[in-house]
Amino acid sequence: MTPGVRTRFAPSPSGPLHVGHLLAALSALRLAERHGGTCLLRIEDIDARAQKPEFTTLLYEDLEWLGLNFPGEPMVQSRRFGIYGAVLETLRGRGLLYPCFCTRTEIRAQVAEMGRAPHATLGYLYPGTCRNLPPELAAERIAAGVPHTWRLDMQKVQDLVGCPLWHDMYRGTQRTVPTRYGDVVLARKDFPASYHLCVVVDDAAQGITHVTRGADLFEATHIHRALQAVLGLPVPQYCHHSLLRDNAGKRLAKRDGARSLESLRRAGFTPRQVLESLQTALRQGGIWYAPGD
Ligand code: GLU
Repeated sequence: MTPGVRTRFAPSPSGPLHVGHLLAALSALRLAERHGGTCLLRIEDIDARAQKPEFTTLLYEDLEWLGLNFPGEPMVQSRRFGIYGAVLETLRGRGLLYPCFCTRTEIRAQVAEMGRAPHATLGYLYPGTCRNLPPELAAERIAAGVPHTWRLDMQKVQDLVGCPLWHDMYRGTQRTVPTRYGDVVLARKDFPASYHLCVVVDDAAQGITHVTRGADLFEATHIHRALQAVLGLPVPQYCHHSLLRDNAGKRLAKRDGARSLESLRRAGFTPRQVLESLQTALRQGGIWYAPGD
């Protein structure tokens, strides 16, 4: 028992919850339970184009149906843009952000020209094209309304914080080399704060001591660790759990509507059957069969 352990379930409501989300929720809940701690809920709904209020409503219905409870009011990211904006302002004031005017197509071409392949989980790492734009030119473009993003200058981050350490409960001590992840986008005009920024700010705001999340976010944790170092935030422990696969070995994803909790509920399965199917999947190394299969 480690009293004071605090985990969180942090779904992004960009579609109905599926069994992969349920695995994430159970990992967070169980870890908290094992330590006599608490598991909080956070709705990560900063992307208004992808995330719809009806999915948030459905998410609450699914959690209720499953009998999964989280104490207190959930934290809702779409209500916190003022807080993220203030953090961005601090980073900008410290000279750690720069405006970038490259389009996605341009970045793809730049990366290809340098003979680099996209990163397996983080996509096209930005090669830093706009990092050294003369400030007057950048200001002129911004004033003219040219679309731009704000990127974190990882070289400056590394000069400032070096290569900080973090701990993964399965994989042991990790060392983050900030410059390996490219200058990540922290804000866009139509999307005033990025996942990386919000997750780091909110894990600290909610006092999260242990972050459980899918192994697909392992590399992103390095980016988060760099941000925590720069912002002087506490560093949780991490536990990256394996992802669910179907019996053909394919990763289960939101687009597989048939595996949504809503569709299982509508098909007449009980919460208990769904939870049991997940326990079986865990025993079978993550291969999931729908209840009744
Ligand atoms: N919101 C993210 C998702 O649903 C998870 C974020 C996290 O666990 O850090 O994929």
